Formats: sequence, structure tokens, C-alpha cells
Amino acid sequence: MSLIEITEVKKRFGDNEVLKGINIDVEPGEVIAIIGKSGSGKSTLLRCINGLETIDDGSISVAGAQLLPDEIHLKALRLKVGMIFQQFNLFPHLTAGRNVMLSQMVVKKTPRGEAEAMAKKMLERVGLGHKFDAYPDELSGGQQQRVAIARALAMQPIALLCDEITSALDPELVNEVLAVVKELASEGMTLLMVTHEMRFARDVCSRVVFMHQGRVHEIGPPGEVFAEPRTPELKQFLGML
Ligand code: ADP
Ligand code: MG
Repeated sequence: MSLIEITEVKKRFGDNEVLKGINIDVEPGEVIAIIGKSGSGKSTLLRCINGLETIDDGSISVAGAQLLPDEIHLKALRLKVGMIFQQFNLFPHLTAGRNVMLSQMVVKKTPRGEAEAMAKKMLERVGLGHKFDAYPDELSGGQQQRVAIARALAMQPIALLCDEITSALDPELVNEVLAVVKELASEGMTLLMVTHEMRFARDVCSRVVFMHQGRVHEIGPPGEVFAEPRTPELKQFLGML
């Protein structure tokens, strides 16, 4: 059994069919890069996987549990699968530590002391143990994104979905965030990342998914997808045409 099984998933917004039958099985510990042009359905796919969007057809299961479109199951799913966005979405009036504590206490009803200990541990894990009491506006964009990663990790997810998490950062801050992701990957975290960082995808990911017009157009190890693209669409996307 795969950790995440995405089978014939379809999603439409009105008459715009955005996902046209997606099939991907993700094994535990896999790091998958999702690449493709803007509008190809990458974000929608991630949002379906953690239940932020309902699917119209097909099925998604996470750790053997099928995603059903009712609130109780979606909540359970969001507990299992973490998601990090381009915008860090930290609460500006709360310190880094409190930001990491909050969802644990609200969503998981974790007792304060336990949430605080977990927040300290996870901030340390992303290299920000010394920033527990700092407010978001006292942190760089890269540091804020690392707090957002710590917040997701504090929920102890079985997989992490990252949607262009370095796209809003100044170029010199991108690497510190990618370094954290790389570390998580080496520790065995299962990751699905929508990214424009092709070098990172090549060096760190086990497989690359190229999405085109709502379909998985090509999928394979980075060595194949980047070095031997089979379709003109991928060649063009990679700037080879
Ligand atoms: P990507 O992340 O690859 O850029 P998206 O998944 O964001 O692509 O979007 C795919 C398509 O779905 C686009 O045409 C977009 O306009 C449409 N779309 C995404 N979210 C919504 C929504 N909430 N309502 C209507 N259309 C949407
Ligand atoms: Mg997107």
C-alpha cells in the first residue's frame, strides 16, 4: 500500500475541468516535485490531497484512509497532511513560538505545556530555536517561512505538501528554506512539492511530476524527466525548444 494513493481524480470549477483524471501513488519517504505551467492544476491537486477542495470523481487515500467529502473526514485528513503555502500566513500579533503552539492547541487540543515543548523542538529543527519570542515582523521572509514549516511539523503530519514555498522570497533567502526541506527529506518525511527550483528537484526528489492541462503529462525520476523529456510540452517547459 502506498502512503498516498491518488486514483483517477477529477476536479472542475464550473465548466472548467482543472484535474482530468490524476493518478499518482506516493510511497512513504518519497519526495515528489510537481512542475508545470501556471494554471496546469498543481495547487488544486495539493488542495484536494489535504481536503481543502472536494473532488468530483476518483479517490484519494492517505495512509489507507479514503478521503470522503464530509467535514469530519476532512478534518482528520488535515491533521494527517500538513500544507505550507507561498504566503507564510503567520499571525502578526503572535510570537514565532505562539504561532507554532496555536494550531496544536486549537485543532488538536494539545495542553499548553506540551504544545510549548513541541514548538521549541520544532523551531530548533528549522534552525530557529533562538527566535521563540520574536514576532513575525522581526524575522526575515526565509525565517518566517521556516516558522511556518515548524508549525506544520508540530502537528506531526505523515506527509507535507509544499506549494511554491520559496516563490515569495528574495533570492538570497531561498536556500535556507530549501535546506530545511532537504533535511526533512533526508529524515524520511514524505513530501509533495510544487516548485520552480529545478536544481533542487533534480538533486533531492525521487520523482518529478510534470502537469500539463490538468493531466500528469510525464512522471519519472529526475534523471529521466529532466535529461530525456519525451513530450514537446515538457521540452518547451524546460526551455529546450
Ligand atoms: P497552478 O497551481 O498549476 O497554477 P491552479 O491549480 O491554481 O494551477 O489552477 C488551475 C485552474 O483552476 C486555473 O484555470 C484556475 O483559474 C482554476 N481555479 C483554481 N482555483 C479555483 C477556484 N477556487 N475557483 C475557480 N477556478 C479555480
Ligand atoms: Mg499554484
